Amino acid sequence: MLPPSVDVVVIGGGQSALAVGYYLRRSGLSFVLLDEQSEPGGAWPQAWPSLRLFSPAQWSSLPGWLMPRGDDEYPTRDGAIAYLTEYERRYSLPVERPVRVSAVHRESDTTGLLRVETDSGSVRSRAVVSATGNWANPSIPDIPDRSLFAGDVLHSSQYRGPSDFIGRHVIVVGGGNSGAQIVAELSAITRVTWATLRPPTILPDEIDGRYLFEQATARYRAIQEGRTPDPPRSLEDIVAVASVREARDRGALETVRMFERFTRTGVVDADGVDQPADAVIFATGFRPALEHLKPLGVMDAGGRVEVRGTRSVAEPRLWLVGYGEWTGFASATLIGVGRSARATVQEIAETLAPQAETDR
Ligand code: FAD
Repeated sequence: MLPPSVDVVVIGGGQSALAVGYYLRRSGLSFVLLDEQSEPGGAWPQAWPSLRLFSPAQWSSLPGWLMPRGDDEYPTRDGAIAYLTEYERRYSLPVERPVRVSAVHRESDTTGLLRVETDSGSVRSRAVVSATGNWANPSIPDIPDRSLFAGDVLHSSQYRGPSDFIGRHVIVVGGGNSGAQIVAELSAITRVTWATLRPPTILPDEIDGRYLFEQATARYRAIQEGRTPDPPRSLEDIVAVASVREARDRGALETVRMFERFTRTGVVDADGVDQPADAVIFATGFRPALEHLKPLGVMDAGGRVEVRGTRSVAEPRLWLVGYGEWTGFASATLIGVGRSARATVQEIAETLAPQAETDR
């Protein structure tokens, strides 16, 4: 049963929403988290089972409690799910699920409240934090003649493991961590071609997600202090987790330039030559899942919301957490989102301080 009104509605139940919840609990504001999934873990249960995180456990942690270290240095997908499940329980975070938010509206009366519409009724609130992530909105580039192709086309979010592809020629598209891990795993059992827009960067073995986060922090500090930051190493650079190292060492991580178009039996490569293929997997990322914000009229042509920090410029009762660099340095990572969440709750508390829901 949803509360009729609270100070703050957080939309989502993944790591970003939980980090916001952690700080909201300490703020004294009333709040609820609304998550469309029926189980904890945000998007992680949708990832393929063999996925490895690119940062060690301590560097894959939300505020307050370190992720317990498993047998391997890099946590598994299931390790991340177990951690988020326990985190939610440990801090008694009020997550309502499954509850899908369809829209956020401005109340037309004089209360100055927002109304969050869901498939289980509506909740009125003085502030809304959108923390719906990107996974619900997989991005596949528009490549000519895709409809001609008789083989399978899927996004990395639909990939479940190598067993579906035995004996088939698979083209994997995308030069980030997902593409590299999928190529590493598939190439051990079948023929794989790895197609990328530009040559990917595989980081040296000693550099992992921890280093990338430290670097993002150094850049953040430099900008805050008015210094010129070092050029960034992208969070897209590939961390050499064990499967990637093994594939690199057997020479399986060679790339070709992105193909031009599909044919019925495969693709036409960058040199104009027909290449047969049985399946194409796009590890080409995600776009923010922000459909529910449409009624507020805050989205730009690129499907994002203009923010200052994490606060919407056009709707000052709306904050966005966890979507990527545009909502805070490293905010789409477990370790990075804590900083955005803390600053967000601090700003909300200052904004709502004169009249907390619980005082009225
Ligand atoms: P999500 O986890 O997507 O959670 C959002 C939640 O909101 C979901 O439960 C979703 O169902 C729900 N939701 C969406 N829309 C609605 C709605 N309208 N109403 C109600 N609920 C809604 N990060 C790291 O720190 N380390 C890593 O090693 C790492 N590896 C990654 C590997 C891959 C392949 C990918 C894709 C990402 C990886 N990340 C990693 C990045 C990061 O951890 C994820 O992007 C993370 O899931 C973002 O968390 P989130 O809470 O913002 O969003």
